[in-house]
Amino acid sequence: MINETAYALGANRSCIRDLFEYGCQRAAIVGRENVYDYSLGNPSIPSPPAVNETICRILADTEPLAVHGYTSAVGDLSARQAIADDLNARYHAGVRPEELFLGCGAAPELVAVFRALAVPGAEILAIAPYFPEYKPFAESAGAVFKVVPPDVPGFQIDLEAVEAMLTPRTQAIIVNSPNNPSGVVYTEETLNALGALLTRKGQEYGHPIYIVADEPYRELTYGCDAPFIPNIYPNTIVCYSYSKSLSLPGERIGYVYVPRQAADSAALYAAVAGAARACGHVCAPSLWQKVIARCAHLRPDLAAYDKNRKALYEGLTEMGYEMAKPDGAFYLFIKAPGGDANEFSERAKAKDLLVVPGDGFGCPGYFRICYCVSYEMIQKSLPVFRALIENR
Ligand code: PLP
Repeated sequence: MINETAYALGANRSCIRDLFEYGCQRAAIVGRENVYDYSLGNPSIPSPPAVNETICRILADTEPLAVHGYTSAVGDLSARQAIADDLNARYHAGVRPEELFLGCGAAPELVAVFRALAVPGAEILAIAPYFPEYKPFAESAGAVFKVVPPDVPGFQIDLEAVEAMLTPRTQAIIVNSPNNPSGVVYTEETLNALGALLTRKGQEYGHPIYIVADEPYRELTYGCDAPFIPNIYPNTIVCYSYSKSLSLPGERIGYVYVPRQAADSAALYAAVAGAARACGHVCAPSLWQKVIARCAHLRPDLAAYDKNRKALYEGLTEMGYEMAKPDGAFYLFIKAPGGDANEFSERAKAKDLLVVPGDGFGCPGYFRICYCVSYEMIQKSLPVFRALIENR
């Protein structure tokens, strides 16, 4: 016999993957340059050159067993110290290495955090639009997954809607800023108000409501900074990843930060480590821990993303498409002309333009495009976008 839930998750591919596979098939027929694939968020800028140089230096200078050996489950002290130093230089956050747990990217870190918080009956809230994987992560942890309706059209956070969904069983709310799929950066004002609400309701319920800050896009901002949420609300657990900031999505490295000022922080940290262990975590990749120990301070060169963002935001807005201002990440979340994003996505697909309908992000009627693509592809695709909005 086979576990039905696991089977269903494995057998039903995501709509994003389906579109991506379709794009590959079409590329084989009509040529890659004639498919405008905005489906998948794979970084398109290279890692900073110092990353690869550092790998070479580590391989040349370090004894092989030390490069590839197991590390402690929470991660090498040198990497955790480098991350703490970097966070403290940027945010004056007072981070200590013992508050950091090195993980294999934001996805498994979120799973560990959800499992650490999944007491019987626990509810975990996400704010629409949200990263679709939150649902299987939370539900497989045993939590009830609830979605706060979107705050249209700006995609900040509708606090009345959050308050209406809080119950004494609410353990956490996931905050993803800069946001996938909207590209919106939550303002300090929004986060202050959310923090005040969670403080008040936590006092009322007699237990903390944690913010799980999912931050793979923290450094990907254009003309603004993403506030560092632990400085705003102490009961914040950060799940961070270098997948996007250093363009290392296949290497699987990141960290969980459990600030000591968070309620029950020592037990929480132990529970995150325990939940990771129960999922088979042994340690984050050893070589990459050594790279991060030397490269935690590096930042991406966002010029190419910014150029793409401007070309699309300005070009599409001028045609009449509507979207929230995309200040971060590498996505635009656009209102479907005519209102039906699935119909729009199908019409676009017929012209080899691949966009993802918003239903899976908890936001029907919108579609996502991911602009980590070539500038040339954007230029070639703009007339197709124009034809789609003009010939409805
Ligand atoms: N959270 C969000 C919002 C994402 O967009 C992604 C990946 O695209 C992840 C988490 C998972 O990232 P990682 O590669 O660090 O597991």
